[in-house]
Amino acid sequence: MQHITGTLIWYYYVCKREVWLMAHELHPNQEDPFLEIGRLIQKESYAREKKEIELGHIKIDLIKRANGEFIVGEIKKSSRFEEPAKMQLAYYLYCLRKYGIAATGELLIPKEKKRIKVELTDVIKVKLEHAFTAIKEIIKQEKPPLPQRTRYCSHCAYKDFCWV
Ligand code: SF4
Repeated sequence: MQHITGTLIWYYYVCKREVWLMAHELHPNQEDPFLEIGRLIQKESYAREKKEIELGHIKIDLIKRANGEFIVGEIKKSSRFEEPAKMQLAYYLYCLRKYGIAATGELLIPKEKKRIKVELTDVIKVKLEHAFTAIKEIIKQEKPPLPQRTRYCSHCAYKDFCWV
């Protein structure tokens, strides 16, 4: 049984086909320049603040405590993927809450000097629970959903799987 992960939540809000490809271990081209830039930004940004932790099947970039509350940070390379990134971060807050840890989130976009606050509201919680069911349904399918052109395709490391 495939675990829901932060990456799958991210893909769910980018493209349903990516969910299937990733879940079936069809990994994208690792030398894709957009993936490399993302890895570099992840490695070099907030190096002093960085405290990566793994909790079950989730991996959090950065967690800190300020004014008595936990703040989870997720580093991204641009706000182009703001909505998927917010939902990924909200998913981490959801998992932490299951472990009894109340936290808020900060989406960090160093290239744009942005910090966006993310909270796990009841509406987002319901959206996530809907996404969990939908992701499981997508993964169960024999074939991936057909490609749909979106604004994300041009930066997608899977584009060779979709377009010739
Ligand atoms: S290229 Fe477009 S359709 Fe194909 S996986 Fe990427 S985002 Fe989805």
